[in-house]
Amino acid sequence: MGEEGAYARFCATVDAAAAVAGLSDPSLLVRIKRPERVHEVSIPLVRDDGRHEMLTGYRVQHSSARGPYKGGIRYHPNVSLDEVKALAGWMSIKTAVVNIPMGGGKGGITVDPHVLSPRELESLTRAYTERIWRAIGPLVDIPAPDVNTDSRIMDWLADEYGRQSGLADPAVVTGKTVEHGGSLGRDKATARGGFDVLEAALNAAHEDLRGKRVAIQGFGNAGANAALLLQEAGAIIVAASDSTASLVASEGLPVDDLIAYKSRGSHFCDWTTFERKRADSPLFEQVDILVPAALEGQITAENAERVTARWIVELANGPTTPDADDVLARRGVHLLPDILANAGGVVVSYFEWVQDLHSERWLLEEVEARLAVVMRRAYDAVTTLAADKGVSMRLAAYAVALQRIATAIGEAEVAPRRSVSTMIL
Ligand code: NAD
Repeated sequence: MGEEGAYARFCATVDAAAAVAGLSDPSLLVRIKRPERVHEVSIPLVRDDGRHEMLTGYRVQHSSARGPYKGGIRYHPNVSLDEVKALAGWMSIKTAVVNIPMGGGKGGITVDPHVLSPRELESLTRAYTERIWRAIGPLVDIPAPDVNTDSRIMDWLADEYGRQSGLADPAVVTGKTVEHGGSLGRDKATARGGFDVLEAALNAAHEDLRGKRVAIQGFGNAGANAALLLQEAGAIIVAASDSTASLVASEGLPVDDLIAYKSRGSHFCDWTTFERKRADSPLFEQVDILVPAALEGQITAENAERVTARWIVELANGPTTPDADDVLARRGVHLLPDILANAGGVVVSYFEWVQDLHSERWLLEEVEARLAVVMRRAYDAVTTLAADKGVSMRLAAYAVALQRIATAIGEAEVAPRRSVSTMIL
């Protein structure tokens, strides 16, 4: 990822966008950038063979200026405090871009969950929850899934929160299974939100998806669902990767088969029918649209010249470094930035929270229609500011968010916020 850490990159982008947003008060900017609270916890885990291990976990509560902290929990060997701080900051910006009444937070455990048995995974999740439950809550901080965490893990977290606090409330976490209070449409929400934004951008450029060639880096929740939606709209998925390899087929990959294959826990490196390449090859395939949907820091100044796509839809958080942004902008690549393009997940997480708080159940069509409205409004706000100021979509998205956060901080200073609000669209 280069010498500069993810949190420093977050701060640098906030500084650059502050000028666009017309915010010049240095103390306000420090307040916007610094996390309000950082929790670091030690998590005991007894392995199936009886060994005792002590793992490290985090929950960073970045900003509550616009509402309760909101953000996912990641299980990955590279999780570090620096990374979680950046991810938490991005969440504060993201919830502000899409204008839902929530702040930003993020959590993680430094662990490779693939080496854990289901019992160990559940035990780890419950032990992490035991460590952080006092810091979270339905009106305080609402976690959600992220890399390597799913609805089953969110169910465990909600259940353990209920045991510890004595308050069984499904609104403490989103991204749960539908049986345990999850929302219909949450599983595909990140991909669908990105799809909505891409469609709006292609329409504005008088282009359409049919026949467009697409490469996807990271075939997990975000990437695989994006592949499905894009294929349904007539695009051709020519490359897709997981962490072990990429599969490439110029005539198009069978997305349903790939999803079924991955759901059995198999790795692309073991698939023999298609051409296999390195895991990062989707970044450099000859395509129209590139969807980075794996981890941060993938498109760098060193490799950005080799990206041939004219459109990039950032479903991953932070996949492009600032130096790479400059290279791509110089080459006229249309980049739909993460804080806008992958915000569908947090929007439907917010819908799930509203449904749980109000004991409501929305139909799938209702969820998707409301999501499309929110994404479209956010896209319009960002493109309008980008055009007004002559800046990139990323800077414009940050600037829209910073203006909203600064307003909330200003309002809180005049009259402190006493209750959470939910907006009905
Ligand atoms: P996931 O764990 O479901 O999938 C991640 C995929 O990326 C897996 O297929 C994994 O094998 C692959 N991968 C990991 N390292 C890779 C590498 N070096 N090269 C190629 N592939 C690699 O995770 P997810 O939930 O789909 O999240 C993916 C990205 O999207 C993350 O950056 C996450 O923060 C972001 N995101 C996810 C959501 C969501 O709702 N799931 C919402 C917003 C943002």
